Amino acid sequence: MSLDRFAALVQTDVGGPLAAGSLALAPPVADEVDVEVSVCSLCHSDLHLLDGDWSAPRPLVPGHEIVGRVVRLGPAARGLVAGARVGVGWQAGACGACEACARGSVQLCVGGKERTCVGRPGGFARFVRARAPFCFPIPDALDDAHAAPLLCAGLTVFSPLERFGVGAGQRVGVVGCGGLGHLAVAFARARGAEVIAFDTDLSRAELARSLGASELRDARGPLPERAVDLLLVTTHAALDFSAWLAVVRLEGTMCLVGVPPGPVTVDADGLLDGQKTLTGSVVGTPATMRAMLTFASTSGVRPVIETAPLSRANDAVVALREGRARMRIVLEQDL
Ligand SMILES: [Zn+2]
Ligand SMILES: [Zn+2]
Repeated sequence: MSLDRFAALVQTDVGGPLAAGSLALAPPVADEVDVEVSVCSLCHSDLHLLDGDWSAPRPLVPGHEIVGRVVRLGPAARGLVAGARVGVGWQAGACGACEACARGSVQLCVGGKERTCVGRPGGFARFVRARAPFCFPIPDALDDAHAAPLLCAGLTVFSPLERFGVGAGQRVGVVGCGGLGHLAVAFARARGAEVIAFDTDLSRAELARSLGASELRDARGPLPERAVDLLLVTTHAALDFSAWLAVVRLEGTMCLVGVPPGPVTVDADGLLDGQKTLTGSVVGTPATMRAMLTFASTSGVRPVIETAPLSRANDAVVALREGRARMRIVLEQDL
């Protein structure tokens, strides 16, 4: 198939379905890399984009948990060769010159961050483009379908575990045991921490335990007090954040990785008398991505997935929207 004209799934109206369309990619310049998409999994952020919760130009081609093979490289693309199996996540490029990029936190770039499927076509297509530093070699131990969800969901939850040095002797709480949360449970446990999962869907208890949680507690309460060193909030739901901050031990941390629908408010008591930290985290650095992929390949952490043909993406979107995805839907190339 030619990069001058290739198949893609395109949303032209906010909230509307994806329809068959076509795209073209001119020869890559600078450090651009063109990747032939093998699989692309469906992330909750794709849903936010499709539903118009977040602003993004139309036409929209979603998809940012991509595994494929390099087919073309720009003249300044280093460290990759044609045919290499790579993954591309939420971020496709950074300015390289701003305050965030200068300190190595390129995921926080404020000078022109490029998002894989915002303002540019994403992975629900035959080919996708990203910059070389954001194309990551996939370890052989990870197959395409199990690698894809790691590229956004995996990185998103692994990054705060790295940042807060989670390991043996610590207790981690994970709020929400879905696409993000189930990987948070698995990674935190594999790093040696004790993990308590929280969800409103108690039918996920067996899954949570199989991934290493000591228990899955009802997120509707009653909630334990001062029970965990780090609480990772992976849901996109509106929560009583003061009640959840009470689950954190004195001087512990509550970190948001899901995107709440409105402002986050907490009682000052927990922040002052408990000297607790409330923070957030967004994807991760390229170094953390590489560390996460290596850790997953050697520790045996894998996402729980179901697969479907990419051409059936509309069905997958409905399943995710209705909470029927278990846990990540990976779409396989058939366009
Ligand atoms: Zn994502
Ligand atoms: Zn920057």
